[in-house]
Parts: sequence; C-alpha cells; structure tokens
Amino acid sequence: MSKIGINIATGSLQQEEMIVGIDLGTTNSLVAIVHPDTQKPVVLKEYNGTALVPSVVHFGDAGSVSVGDEAKKFLITEPQNTIFSVKRLMGKSYNDVKDHSSFFTYKILDDDTERLVKVQLGDRFYSPIELSSLVLKELKSRAEHILKTAVNRAVITVPAYFNDAQRQATRDAGKLAGLDVLRIINEPTAASLAYGLGMKKDEVRTVAVYDLGGGTFDISILKITSGIFEVLSTNGNTYLGGDDFDSAIVKYWQNELSLPDEELRNDKSLAQSLRLKAEEAKICLSSHSNFESSVRERTVSLTKEEFENLARPFVNQTIYCCKSALQDAGLTVKDIEEVIMVGGSTRVPLVKKMISDLFQKPLHDSMNPDEVVALGAAVQADILAGNNKDFLLLDITPLSLGIETMGGLMDVLIPRNSKIPTKVGRQYTTQKDGQSGMRISVFQGERDLVKDNRKLAEFSLNGIPAMPAGLPKVEVSFLVNADGILVVKAKELRSGVEQSIEVKPQYGLTDEEVEKMLMDSIVHAKDDMKTRALVEAQTEAGQIIRTTNNFLVKNREFLSPQELVNTNNAIANLQKLIQSGTKDQIQTAIESLNEISKPYAERLMDEAIGKAMKGKNVLE
Ligand code: ADP
Ligand code: MG
Repeated sequence: MSKIGINIATGSLQQEEMIVGIDLGTTNSLVAIVHPDTQKPVVLKEYNGTALVPSVVHFGDAGSVSVGDEAKKFLITEPQNTIFSVKRLMGKSYNDVKDHSSFFTYKILDDDTERLVKVQLGDRFYSPIELSSLVLKELKSRAEHILKTAVNRAVITVPAYFNDAQRQATRDAGKLAGLDVLRIINEPTAASLAYGLGMKKDEVRTVAVYDLGGGTFDISILKITSGIFEVLSTNGNTYLGGDDFDSAIVKYWQNELSLPDEELRNDKSLAQSLRLKAEEAKICLSSHSNFESSVRERTVSLTKEEFENLARPFVNQTIYCCKSALQDAGLTVKDIEEVIMVGGSTRVPLVKKMISDLFQKPLHDSMNPDEVVALGAAVQADILAGNNKDFLLLDITPLSLGIETMGGLMDVLIPRNSKIPTKVGRQYTTQKDGQSGMRISVFQGERDLVKDNRKLAEFSLNGIPAMPAGLPKVEVSFLVNADGILVVKAKELRSGVEQSIEVKPQYGLTDEEVEKMLMDSIVHAKDDMKTRALVEAQTEAGQIIRTTNNFLVKNREFLSPQELVNTNNAIANLQKLIQSGTKDQIQTAIESLNEISKPYAERLMDEAIGKAMKGKNVLE
C-alpha cells in the first residue's frame, strides 16, 4: 500500500517513498516494484519501452558517459571505451580474473595483482564498484522518472555463489549511486519469491533454479523451510550463456558466406552488425521456425533445426553442471519438487525441453525469465517496507541471541531486531590439545558478559576426535523459525559429529522484562566495554601462558639458564596479574613475556628452516 502523507510545512501531498527491487545483471539490469494498487510485482519500463537496461557503460571523448542501449552501440566499434560485464569484476583481484583477460576488450590494470582490480579509461582509473554504480544511477533515475518520486532505498540481487567481498562491493556500488541498500538477496531466492514459493508458513520445498543469462550460467539448489531459504549447492559456468549461441551463429554464417576471420577483425562495424543480427535470429527462432534477413546486402538465414544443432552442445554443458549440483546437495532428480527457469536464454525452446526432460517435470516458466529476479527483489522490498503484513519475515527477535565464549563473554550470533525466520552460522575451535567435548551455552540479552544475560539452554558436543588445539572446526548454527523457535546446532566439520537442541527464546519473558534488559544494557554499556576488554586480555594471557609452557616442555634444552629463569618469572608475574591486574597491566606483562621469548623462538625457527633445507636444491 503506498501511503500518501501531507507535508505540514507546505501543505502539499507527498507520496511515501517506495523501496525498489533491482536485478543488477551481467548483461541486463532492471528495476521492479510491488504495485501499490494491485499488490502485484511489476517491472518499471518507460512508455513503450523495455524494462531491460543493458549493463554497459560507454565513456565518450568529451567526458560524456552513457549507460544502457545507448552504450551498447559502441561495444564493437569502441571496445576500449565501452565497459560490459563489470559484474564479473566485482570484489575480484587481477589474479582472480587473469585467465579470462582476453574476454575483456577494455584495459584491466595488472600492476597490483593482489589488490582489487581497476579498469583504465584514457588517463582515468575506475573500480568495478564505481562502474556498477553508474549502471545503478541510471536505474535509479529511470525509476524516479517513471514513478515521479524519489527512489532512495533498494534491495539488490546477487548470484548465490557471491562471497562476502562481492556482496560488499555490490552494497558499496549502491551507496555510491545514492541508494540505501536495505538488503542483498540471492538471485535464486528472488526468483522463488517471484513465483510465490517460500511465502507460506510450514511450507517445505526443494527447488532447482536454472539461470541461463547472456554470459553466465548458474544452477542453484535451494531448500525452503517455512520462509527460510537455504542454498544447498550451486554450480555453473561464469563464461557460458546466450552470447555463446550468438557467436556460434556468427561462425556459422561466416562459413556460409566464406568470410575470413581477418575481414571481421578489420571491419569492426561488419562484425558488430553480424553479432546483432545473430542475436536477432536467435530471438526470432524462439517463436518461429525460420529466420531470414540480410547484412550489407548479403542474405543470412537460419532454421530452427540448424540453430538447435549449434546450441545443443552448450545446453549439454549446463546439464552436466546441474548433475554436479544435485550430487553436491546429496540429492537426485526425484528430490527436486520445483524447477524455476531464469534468464533470457531460457526462452530458447530447446533449453526448456532439455531441462524439463532432465528434471522429469514441468517448469516454472510463466513469467518473463529476464524479469523474475527483479520481480522477486520487489517482493522482498515490499516485505521490508512492512506492506505485506501476512508475511512471516516481518517478525523480529526482541533480544540478541548468542553463545558463551572464553572468559564468559557473550558472542552474539543473531543481533536483536533481526527479521525472522533467520539462520546464522559461525565457526569455533577448541582451546586444548585433544579436547573431545565442547559445551555450548545459549544466552539471550544485550550485555557483554553472559552472567548478566539470560541463559536459555546448554548442551555438549561430545566425541570430537583427538586433534591439536585450534584444529577442530565446530560450526554452531542458530536457526530461528517463523514461530520464534530457536534451534541451535553444533557440528564438528572434520569428523561430522553433531548435536542440536531446540529452545523457545521468548518463553517466560514479558514485554516489561525485555524492556528492562534493554535499559540495563544501555546503562551498563561503558562498564561492559571495560569488562569485555579486561576479559579479553585475561583470556589472551591464559593462552600465551599455555603455549609458552608447552614450548618449554618440548624445547627446554634450547634455552640458556638465564632465559629459562626470565621466562618462568614472566609467566609467574602474568599469572598473578590475570587474577588481580588491570587490562593495561596484563597487556604490558604479555608484551614483556613476548620480548623474552622472541630471541629463542627465532633461533629455533632458523634451525628448523636450516634442517628443512638441508640436502635440498634451492632455487633462486
Ligand atoms: P543476465 O542475467 O546475464 O544479465 P538476461 O537474463 O537478461 O542476462 O539474458 C540475456 C540473454 O538472453 C541474452 O543473451 C539474450 O540474447 C537472451 N535472450 C533474450 N530474449 C531471448 C529469446 N526470446 N530467445 C533467446 N534468447 C533470448
Ligand atoms: Mg540474471
């Protein structure tokens, strides 16, 4: 529901701002909203136009910048000034992309191979974040033009396999474009939402989302449990998509017309025309059985059958990826209940046929495949705006939920006011060599020390195989379902040992009690911070004493008598301060112990390296 408010100062009517959903694609990007009157998601398009904005940016000579169809015209004629596929560079270093450097026709800097990549245009350098923000700015201003209101808040989608760096880069691009990015959501999740999957309470569904776009292919297997979307596996090929169909058609025609490669290389505008014509043929053949046209007075034609022969090997590659994804998720084709088709290239009838044959069921393909992701993002935006009151995601956790870590500190996994349902996981490890059990104590509250919070539950993870301290990987996950039930699971990832427990976090707490706990946390914030710092110093001191003692047991003969005495004194001093010292005193004592042990630790290290090198050839 869009709200109309009255601006008291001016007396004029003001429409409350919308939160938009944005699909920031490799090839095309677009914006959608949930229509305030119909409550249905719709894509935003200019009168008579299309919703898709090619994700292409062109830099003109006079410092002009164009985005979208305007920029796409320069792809082949001005390759060095025309940026496409910038999504592939998000959050990447040169080393990450160097194997595909020939794919990019513009200049990617290679002087610092570890840092995030930059693109060079003339004497200016742009980060992928800046370039993406230009696409987002264009989308924002289009949306404002169409909606006739300011657009400042958005939900943006990313591929399920994007890592934290890539998600952060996308967020930053939004910020740079003047958008408050309320949430980054996975493209397959958005596609499911667009089809209404995951919107019902108690619904459990296993879904495959098949996304064949312009240049990339992604298959994601999702498990939806009461509105929680869990990615079971992803697979795909970041260099496989509709563009490959186009190139195959160009090659085919080149052969038919006896056009040598060289001629295309020298005549860029001919190459461009052939490419565009090939895409036109492909699109035509999705609904017709023949295509005929001409390029520079030469006739080009293609039948549906000929096209399918060209496309089949690529589709076969995607099928191979689907099978791997199923295998990684530990599932077979029969376990998949829903298959959703996403991406413009899934309009090709052959693709639909081969994929429905593979999964042996009808596909969700009633919506425009190049719009579903944006539509789903709009659904999510609408939920965040609080318009969809029926939807579960609106519930929030009143207090933070976390576990006790060393020194009695509260480690928050789910911060207060998180939307539920939600799922969070974090890894922990053991403190002692051979430690076989771990106690997981679950707390609720805002204070830094668990003793000031409310204990909800406790359980032990036992049977961890003997390993040196720090080696086991214990993943603790918190899942709060739509009913506010918290399920805590602990799993040692190397051995697979696991244990879980169910708790009702809110049980027994009245609103007043919740309020009091919040007030307490504010009143004690400063003290809590101090205590946390002290406890952290104490914990660190304890660890250093343990490692130093271990070291002494193994390498005592390595130290001079004086060193041994100094070390033992420093340990005793630190031990005493753990009980009674201030944070600063403890830190100073840690430093002096480190000073004392440094020389012999270094000696030992040199010796170890010397031994390792002996008898080996050293390369220069
Ligand atoms: P991305 O997600 O990579 O940004 P899209 O989902 O917008 O890309 O898909 C773009 C691709 O879809 C292009 O290769 C385009 O040629 C192709 N495409 C669009 N419409 C059709 C159609 N009717 N038939 C076949 N391919 C199509
Ligand atoms: Mg896409």
